[in-house]
Amino acid sequence: MAKSKKFETNAIRTQVPRSPMREHSVPLYMTSSFVFDDAEQARALFADEIPGNIYTRFSNPNNTEFIEKMCLLEGAEDGIATASGMSAVFTSFASLLKSGDHLLVSRSVFGSTHQILTMILPKWGITHTYADIDKPETWEALIQKNTKMIFVETPSNPALDLIDLEWLGTLAKKHGILLNVDNCFCTPYLQQPVSFGADIVIHSGTKFLDGQGRAIGGIIVGRKDLIKEVRFFARHSGPSLSPFNAWILSKSLETLSVRMERHCENAMKLALHLEQHAEIQKVKYPFLASHPQHHLAKKQMKLGGGIVTFVVKGGVDRGRKFLNSLEMVSHTANLGDSRSIATHPASTTHSKLSETERAAVGILPGLIRISVGLEHIDDITADIEQALENSK
Ligand SMILES: *Cc1c(COP(=O)(O)O)cnc(C)c1O
Repeated sequence: MAKSKKFETNAIRTQVPRSPMREHSVPLYMTSSFVFDDAEQARALFADEIPGNIYTRFSNPNNTEFIEKMCLLEGAEDGIATASGMSAVFTSFASLLKSGDHLLVSRSVFGSTHQILTMILPKWGITHTYADIDKPETWEALIQKNTKMIFVETPSNPALDLIDLEWLGTLAKKHGILLNVDNCFCTPYLQQPVSFGADIVIHSGTKFLDGQGRAIGGIIVGRKDLIKEVRFFARHSGPSLSPFNAWILSKSLETLSVRMERHCENAMKLALHLEQHAEIQKVKYPFLASHPQHHLAKKQMKLGGGIVTFVVKGGVDRGRKFLNSLEMVSHTANLGDSRSIATHPASTTHSKLSETERAAVGILPGLIRISVGLEHIDDITADIEQALENSK
């Protein structure tokens, strides 16, 4: 497929070749291995002299299609699909770093990423330093001689603080460091880190890419030479995505642009509504004029994203009462679903941190995170309204 096609078209029309059945929509290839034509073809496939499928741990048509689409959408050269977002994070670290290397990481990364950095990588002598995402002036001094990779999430979760990817890309180039971006909150529809200088982009496919809360999956895309190393590691260590989940994720990408448009439209409307609310202390959303990095958000994001956070008056107790009062909005540990979801980080995802640690990453006791879904905005707003009223 020519690369000149637009985002929406690439997301729909990137397909693996039709089988002899002439199906219109790509079928599911549930097979662990593929039959060789003859001994010579088998030899050539194993010698990497010709392209083709051997075994689903290495490649499968459904995975190939998902990867090709994501590469086009992210503007990346190559990629591999993984069983989860966490296996994408871990595989990107384990394949590109070695003992003695150091990572510079934006503070308040996803919880399991924090566990990998603090509990798992040190076993192999890989260390890290956290840098404050909202204090970019402090970053350069934190780079060490052995710093091999910068890893960031922007906007951060749940504080929704941003870092300037173009600035970060330049900093990484200047010091010869790899820039690895977890782009899960934005999806390539809203933000394409490669265009700002990222070498590697990873995703949890579980969130907005699937978009309907069905499948766990992940992907790593980036520079061809780096993906070659990642692929070698993955082929032999086995974090491959199941063809079934790859099939779901590839189909989901067909509707990514329209879904993200609506997620963002609903999120913006909700944010504007809540900003006026007497029971709410503070609302944060990247495209609100009141967001401290509103201009940066407009520069590097197409729209504000599907996540809105607000601080309800009354602290932890009110936060918990608010969640218990919701009637439609789901209380569950996910985001990026067609169904709106509410989370209270202080009593759940970030409850193991001390109040001081939580404050350092912008988590106030009354902070609520809403992953704004695709229901009618009036119904989402009405449920949040009644829960605010009934939690007084
Ligand atoms: C959910 C999430 C992950 C982990 O993805 P899984 O698919 O759950 O393994 C990583 N990074 C971010 C930002 C996430 O939201």
